[in-house]
Amino acid sequence: MDYERLAELLFPEVTLTPAELELRYPPRALREGARVTRFAPSPTGYLHIGGLFGALTDVLVAKASGGVSYLRIEDTDKKREIDDGVSAILEGFRAFGVRFDEGVTGFGTEQGDYGPYTQSQRVEIYHVVAKDLVKRGLAYPCFCSAEELSQLRDKQEQDGALIRGYFGKYARCRDLSMEQIEKNLADGKSWVLRFRSGGDENKRITFEDLIRGKIEMPENIIDEVLLKSDGIPTYHFAHVCDDHFMRTTHVIRGEEWLSSVPKHIALFKACGFKVPKYVHTAQVMKLDDETGDKRKLSKRKDPEAAVSYFVEKGFPKESLIEYLLTLLNSNFEDWRRANPGTDAMDFPFNLKKMGASGCLFDLQKLTDVSKNVISHMDAETVYARIARWAEVYDPAFYAIFTKDPAYSTAIVNIDRDVPKPRKDLAKWDEAPAYLAYFFDETYENQGAALLPERVSREDAKAILTNYAGIYDPADDRDAWFARMKTICPALGFCPEVKVYKKDPASYKGHVGDVSTVVRLAVTGRTNTPDLCSIMQLLGRERVLARLADFAARICPGASV
Ligand code: GLU
Repeated sequence: MDYERLAELLFPEVTLTPAELELRYPPRALREGARVTRFAPSPTGYLHIGGLFGALTDVLVAKASGGVSYLRIEDTDKKREIDDGVSAILEGFRAFGVRFDEGVTGFGTEQGDYGPYTQSQRVEIYHVVAKDLVKRGLAYPCFCSAEELSQLRDKQEQDGALIRGYFGKYARCRDLSMEQIEKNLADGKSWVLRFRSGGDENKRITFEDLIRGKIEMPENIIDEVLLKSDGIPTYHFAHVCDDHFMRTTHVIRGEEWLSSVPKHIALFKACGFKVPKYVHTAQVMKLDDETGDKRKLSKRKDPEAAVSYFVEKGFPKESLIEYLLTLLNSNFEDWRRANPGTDAMDFPFNLKKMGASGCLFDLQKLTDVSKNVISHMDAETVYARIARWAEVYDPAFYAIFTKDPAYSTAIVNIDRDVPKPRKDLAKWDEAPAYLAYFFDETYENQGAALLPERVSREDAKAILTNYAGIYDPADDRDAWFARMKTICPALGFCPEVKVYKKDPASYKGHVGDVSTVVRLAVTGRTNTPDLCSIMQLLGRERVLARLADFAARICPGASV
């Protein structure tokens, strides 16, 4: 067979050679040991939390070695694509501060010298490599129709063939003569380009996966499709060409690709390319709410499978990244203890410390991590983050919250600048309810529903009347509490909790009950940060008005 002629026949328009591509995309001038990684999503308009895991790994592995990470869009599968499927992915990365060094930067924009970074724009490159494979007898056109392929599957079924697919004696087009090929082409028959596998079904190959260790698998014997009938490459072929010419050193991807490695290694070798290092990462799992079993986080069933969920809920980027890193790398927590306050993106990521089995994503743990992260933020940051979240997701609250920035910053500062800050907030969507009582528009008078059991409506009213008479907004915390105690004896409440506990029968309750009534009136809550600070910020008028409104609500007709 004259392969040179066949190559010209199949790819007459291709004039570039692999050698010219080698010059166009030279090896990267990086220091020894620097790693080049890539994240390669399909433009589905959806970023799965597993994608964020993968991308974080790519970026940190490259960064820790002084290398390069890039974003490549794999749009060869038109079925999975949506119109602008890229922006949502980029938005997810932007929201969580994951930045690649190169690649696609927006819908139709990119940066870097190894592009284009979108596969549909790289068809020329695939065809150069494909033509070269044909020239060397390592690829051939296959004219089998869908019907013929289905007959082939039936035949393999009847034969009880252990390996299924287009190979060996089943590969009808593998040894077509030049005349037959020319005739088929002249007849306008559509064709795909297949790899002519040199694999032996009795042989096995071994390769090293950087987190799974040495892996042994049967050699690939399938004549895999390289180019589809429209000339667009399959994932397998595109992966090999792209990772070679973009000079990827480490292919970090989901474990679902592990079984394809023999195929990919065979292709790298056939193309004359150096095989990259492979790293197959574990799936992100969760415990099923109903069965309690571990299962994959599902796009269909689990809202938290989408990265956009965490944006909408307002989880700070630091919280999600911090939590993901504890799952991704067993070294992270030690590093964090030794480096508190350091940007998580500076973590020296170690591939060897990645687990091979699926890691469990636990929303509750993320919530705890996030409460801790937020508790260490300063008030200005908390104010700005809540405002930014609310502007998009709760415009009504945004208007209220940002009306007086100094006031809103002060309210989020209560109990913040202290050795043990409160850990109430885990995400910004909790802020409107959490801060509701600071604003007249959202404060709710709860009436008697939450009154302590020991306190009757009449006693509550008496507490409020007395307190309104002595309340002094100038009090500091100690004076505030001391004043609260002064009204206790006359109302039958004990000013000291300890004394009350020794002899509860002699009192209606204690100072805690009295301050709860005041708290309830002022905030509508029984549990809040420091009430004295809250009252100082609300101001005298507002406090007195709320004391009066509350008393009126629990004892209609009464006045304070
Ligand atoms: N485009 C492939 C996917 O979305 C990426 C696999 C890879 O990283 O090589 O699954």
